[in-house]
Amino acid sequence: MSENTTANKPKNFIYEIIDEDLKTNKWGGKVCTRFPPEPNGYLHIGHAKSICLNYGIARDYNGKFNLRFDDTNPEKEETEYVESIIEDVNWLGTDFGDKVLFASDYFEQMYLWAVELIKKGKAYVCDLNADEIRASRGTLTEPGKESPYRNRSIEENLNLFERMKNGEFANGTKTLRAKIDMASPNFNLRDPIMYRIIHAEHHRTGNKWCIYPTYDWAHGNEDSIEGITHSICTLEFENHRPLYDWFLDQLGVHHPQQIEFARLNLNYTVMSKRKLLQLVQEKYVDDWDDPRMPTISAYKRRGYTPEAIRNFAEIVGVAKRDALTDISLLEFAIRDDLNKHTQRVMAVLNPLKAIITNYPDGKIEELEAVNNPEDPSMGSRRVPFSKEIYIEQSDFMENPPKGFHRLIHGGEVRLRYAYIIKCDEVIKNDNDEIVELRCSYDPETKSGTGTSKKKVKGTIHWVSVNHAIDVEVRLYDRLFTVENPGVEENWLSCINPNSLEVISNAKLEPFLRNAKKGERFQFERNGYFCVETKHATNDKLVFNRTVTLRDSWAKK
Ligand code: ATP
Ligand code: MG
Repeated sequence: MSENTTANKPKNFIYEIIDEDLKTNKWGGKVCTRFPPEPNGYLHIGHAKSICLNYGIARDYNGKFNLRFDDTNPEKEETEYVESIIEDVNWLGTDFGDKVLFASDYFEQMYLWAVELIKKGKAYVCDLNADEIRASRGTLTEPGKESPYRNRSIEENLNLFERMKNGEFANGTKTLRAKIDMASPNFNLRDPIMYRIIHAEHHRTGNKWCIYPTYDWAHGNEDSIEGITHSICTLEFENHRPLYDWFLDQLGVHHPQQIEFARLNLNYTVMSKRKLLQLVQEKYVDDWDDPRMPTISAYKRRGYTPEAIRNFAEIVGVAKRDALTDISLLEFAIRDDLNKHTQRVMAVLNPLKAIITNYPDGKIEELEAVNNPEDPSMGSRRVPFSKEIYIEQSDFMENPPKGFHRLIHGGEVRLRYAYIIKCDEVIKNDNDEIVELRCSYDPETKSGTGTSKKKVKGTIHWVSVNHAIDVEVRLYDRLFTVENPGVEENWLSCINPNSLEVISNAKLEPFLRNAKKGERFQFERNGYFCVETKHATNDKLVFNRTVTLRDSWAKK
């Protein structure tokens, strides 16, 4: 990420907290943040927000940023996810030092700390099963019931906990619980579980462990071991903070400050990993990186840039209250970035052949076309022009509505970088469908050099028939038809059946013949596109539309 200082930035409330900490020397001048994903899915745009926030803080305060996998649940976690997450975090442009960290590397320390709490009389082995524990938790108005095992002796607890670790007990038959307060108004403090027995192979520690720490127990330990100063998480953990604090206070170890902020929610999008997994497993999308998914890998495949995603995270800001962010804000950030940097080319998505009858047979002109009017340093290129061209079907209308400034029968239009043409004749097939236009051009109207003063209202793009490359183009729309699919009971029924449109015979100017996988372009008037990286074959280029040129939903 680019150099940045805190001086020229609007300060969010987290920056204010850190400024104050630096003033009071709370952490000896240190700032250390982390991003702690559970490797049970691919990262999504919400995670990107958290990464940008945490990494941005470390960068702005010359601190440290850790990427740490919270891999404490062997049943849902996989190496595939670990690898994709590392790739995505790298792609976003963060610097997490020379090493990826894993909570599983701290299992031994966590175990020793748990033993310490048992020795202090602050934790006990409980034989209630999950249902019984739930049933004894009490309600908002009633205190919970103390476990009959709560007052086991320290010796007995030490012995049982060791035997839990050694694999003597079956899944679910025992837990280690913190001994706090079954009457606490905060449920999280009603003797929460610290360890459960799970006989399962862990993606890194194999079968070494059969007891696994819960999030609440593990997370503060992880933060403390790494010397994190500001442990930033989303609002749903606000109620867990007293427990985070309680554990670290009992242990008397380095005690980071947990700070909560509102998670990012996007409209027309689901963000929970469980739901994203379901979309993949039930084949509503082709994979985690299907360009309609809100995952980082999907955005990458679709042509979003890391710069644009970082800008988006910045624009959205950091809030204390949950809200639904408009997805058009993300698309705005993407456009804004691509507009500055992408090469423009002409592509006709739905071709209609036009023959320029008075243009000499066999003649080819190489016309100059600007690569990016926003950036003259990108120069220009030559585009071949000839007697037969393709124009967009939608750029011709037989019965045009008022204000239609493109081509009509008997009307004129400018061909971008070329001439003004007039449509003289409309050729139809037996089904009364338009199959071809016969046009004539005015040689005096050549772009840039023509002597004619003639002006027309419309300019359209085109591609020379003999020079065109056949390409496949995939257009994407929102994956859901409702604003907040996440809250719909039957959210899968809100999937947009038209979220993907495949155009198999689009025509592209020859300049792009050697376009490389992942390269981004603006197809004039049609949007920004990126060469498909995954399911492209060698004989045909495939383009994903990254984003339209304008917010086509804004009018609705
Ligand atoms: P799920 O998506 O199933 O709720 P999760 O988002 O909690 O899971 P984690 O891997 O635990 O998945 O998340 C890693 C970090 O990313 C956490 O610190 C979490 O607070 C943050 N995070 C997750 N979702 C968002 C979001 N939508 N906006 C901002 N931060 C998020
Ligand atoms: Mg989580």
